[in-house]
Amino acid sequence: EAKKLGRNQYSFYTQEMQYVANRRSEQKRELRNALLNHEFEIYYQPVVDFKTGAVTKAEALIRWRHSTMGMVSPAEFIPLAEDAGLIHEIGSWVFIECLEQALKWRAQFHPDFQISVNLSPVQFKHTAYFDRWFNLIASAANTNNCLCVEITEGVLLDASEKTAQQLLRFREAGIEVAIDDFGTGYSSLAYIKRIEVDYLKIDRTFITNIAAESTDYPLVEAIIMMAHKLGLKVIAEGVETEAQLALLDSIGCDYIQGYHYSKPLPRPEFEAWLFARMKEKP
Ligand code: C2E
Ligand code: MG
Ligand code: MG
Ligand code: MG
Repeated sequence: EAKKLGRNQYSFYTQEMQYVANRRSEQKRELRNALLNHEFEIYYQPVVDFKTGAVTKAEALIRWRHSTMGMVSPAEFIPLAEDAGLIHEIGSWVFIECLEQALKWRAQFHPDFQISVNLSPVQFKHTAYFDRWFNLIASAANTNNCLCVEITEGVLLDASEKTAQQLLRFREAGIEVAIDDFGTGYSSLAYIKRIEVDYLKIDRTFITNIAAESTDYPLVEAIIMMAHKLGLKVIAEGVETEAQLALLDSIGCDYIQGYHYSKPLPRPEFEAWLFARMKEKP
C-alpha cells in the first residue's frame, strides 16, 4: 500500500514538475515576441524626499501584459529573460525608454527629475549595450543625473575589476548608482570603499517590522548611520505605514518609497499623481 502511494506521489510530483517546466519554456518562447508585440509597459513609483516632501525621483518597474495570462510579475519573468538571454534586449528597451521619459519630465515637472532603472547582474556580461546608451546620453542635452541605475549586492560581489570599471563609466556618463535590496545579500560595506555609489536602498524586509518589537529598528538605524558616514544617501523601500514613516524620520532616512505614498503606476496615472501632489505641496 505504502509502495503504491509512494509511486503515485512520485508520478504526481513529476507531472507537477513537468507542468512547471512546460510553462517556463512556453513563457520563454512568448517572451521572445513580447518586445515586438509591445507587451511590456513601464510603471513608475514615486520616491519622496523626506526633508522637503518633493518628488523628483521615480523607480521604473517593468510589467508584462500577456495576452491570455494578464499581468505577469517581473519577479517571474525577469529570471526567465536572464536565462534565455533576452534580458539584454529587454533591459536596453527599458533604459532607453526611461532616458526619453526622464528628459520629458525634466521639461514638464522639475529640472532635476531622475528615473532609476534596475539592472540585472547578467547585463554586465554584454556591455556592448552600455556603449549604445552612453552614446545616446552624450548626444542629448540636460542628461546629468537624469538616470540612476539600481544594482544588487551580487553584482559587486563577483566584482571583478571589470564591473568596477563599468560602474565608473556610468558615473562618468552622469548616471548615479544605487545598491538595491540592501541587507538581503552579503551586506559587506567593504565594496562601497572600492566602488563609488550614490544611494543605498534598504530592502523592504527590514522596513516591514521596523515599528514592531524587533531587532530591525537598531539594524536600520546602524545602516543609515554608516551610509551617511560613507557619504551615501539612503532610500527606504516598501514603506506602508505612518508608524514606519515616523521611525524612519527620527533616524534621518533621506528618501521614502512605498505604498504609503503610492504603488507603481502606469505613466498617465503617475503624471496625474504628480500634478495633484504639486498642487497640494507646491
Ligand atoms: P525592486 O527593484 O526591489 O523593486 C521594488 C519592488 O517592491 C517592486 O516590485 C515594487 O512594486 C515593490 N514595492 C514597492 N513599494 C512597496 C510596498 O510598500 N509594499 C510592497 N509589498 N511592495 C512594494 P515589482 O514591481 O514586482 O518588481 C520586483 C522586482 O523585479 C524588482 O525589485 C526588480 O528587482 C525587478 N525588476 C522590475 N523591473 C525591472 C527591470 O526593468 N529590469 C530588471 N532587471 N529588473 C526589474
Ligand atoms: Mg529596484
Ligand atoms: Mg529593491
Ligand atoms: Mg530587486
